Amino acid sequence: MSLQNIAREITIDQTRHLETSIPGPKSTQRHAEREQHVTAGFGVTLPVFVEAADGGIIQDIDGNRLIDFASGIAVTSLGASNKRVAQRVAAQIEKFSHTCFMVTEYDSFTKVCKWLNEHTPGDFDKRTGLFSTGAEAVENAIKIARSATGRPNVLVFDEAYHGRSLLTMAMTAKENPYQLNFGPMPREVVRAASANPLRPVYGGSTPAEITEKSLASVRDTLATHGADTFAAMVIEPIQGEGGFIVPAPGFLTGLREIADEHGIVLVIDEIQAGLGRTGKLYASEWEGVAGDITLSAKALANGVPLSAVTGRAELMNAVHSGGLGGTYAGNPVACEAALAVFEQLDQSVLDNAAKIEQTVREVLEPLLEETNIVAQVRGRGAMLAIELADKGTLEPRPDLARSIALACHAQGVIILTCGTYGNVIRLLPPLIIGEELLRDGLQVLAGAIKDAA
Ligand SMILES: *Cc1c(COP(=O)(O)O)cnc(C)c1O
Repeated sequence: MSLQNIAREITIDQTRHLETSIPGPKSTQRHAEREQHVTAGFGVTLPVFVEAADGGIIQDIDGNRLIDFASGIAVTSLGASNKRVAQRVAAQIEKFSHTCFMVTEYDSFTKVCKWLNEHTPGDFDKRTGLFSTGAEAVENAIKIARSATGRPNVLVFDEAYHGRSLLTMAMTAKENPYQLNFGPMPREVVRAASANPLRPVYGGSTPAEITEKSLASVRDTLATHGADTFAAMVIEPIQGEGGFIVPAPGFLTGLREIADEHGIVLVIDEIQAGLGRTGKLYASEWEGVAGDITLSAKALANGVPLSAVTGRAELMNAVHSGGLGGTYAGNPVACEAALAVFEQLDQSVLDNAAKIEQTVREVLEPLLEETNIVAQVRGRGAMLAIELADKGTLEPRPDLARSIALACHAQGVIILTCGTYGNVIRLLPPLIIGEELLRDGLQVLAGAIKDAA
């Protein structure tokens, strides 16, 4: 029962507490200093400087304790100062911090790959490569798929998010802020419609119809460019930055069939949804679909940078020796952190993700009826979102999402927004957050939504 052990080891008081206004005077001063030294290219959700964090709490330098509904964007699932992670990391860094796996080897790299081969969806022989960031995992999956197929093109979807690097920003759907002024974009990245149940681009009045029409448009898009020019199609099992969109049922299965038909490598980007976030180890398990390649990152090492590409052995081994790698790829400190995550990510943690969903739905779903601005409460496990739009017209209301987030921040609840129109509030609490703290944060959010309505 990991959950109880982890909870027992949390030392930060798990209650919300406001000592000053948010941000407090010390944070405000540090933020002014930051602006003198840090590029203006980095935005910030909440200009609060952190002193310590664990469980569901972030404590700032002004002595405020804020409820963490972000987990550093779905990263610190087991708590931001998880003891087992801290111990393994400390012990490793005492022995050696780095050798570069391409220069001399260490066993933790192999062990992380073995675990991923055994636990990612797909009952076939697998191999794994480790890298540092999510974007790097996506890029390496494309390198592998191109190498294995000898084809150039990559199919991606509306509302997709795959990163900020030169290739992945082109794979990401949202223009501002991810692509704006950063072009040109590679023409090998081709976009198709996703099966968005609330806003289906190609119409359809039932989920089955939406799936059917979306899949038909995917086939059209492939045919336009020649299906046999595509190395890979890349899809998130639940779209993250795009708005926590759970594709209409059957869409992923349909993509699996299309990929098989045309010899296209299906890459499932589980970087945000994977490692227990949705109540299953990998979100594609909900649909019973396995990618030829599955990507892990974010929660993989609970805050130490580590990402992974896991796939069919014949694909992963199609690359020439020396073709993959990186100075920090699968760094030993990060591998130890991942092994500590694997030790603790048991059924009790997955069950808590499911329990989080129950509580969130219990508190927020009544707002669908009680207000005229909540269009949908959606997601799975501890990956849940509320879309704000005018009832009837479905006109997106990013202004309300912004004002609700600001109201939550002022009351000590860290809330993120997302979505193509910026009108979605998303909840990504640590998987180990306690029930009372979760309810306190949700009451603040529900109150802010009612005020906005
Ligand atoms: C965050 C994210 C990425 C990019 O990961 P980085 O570590 O920020 O490069 C890619 N895909 C998905 C689905 C993500 O959520």
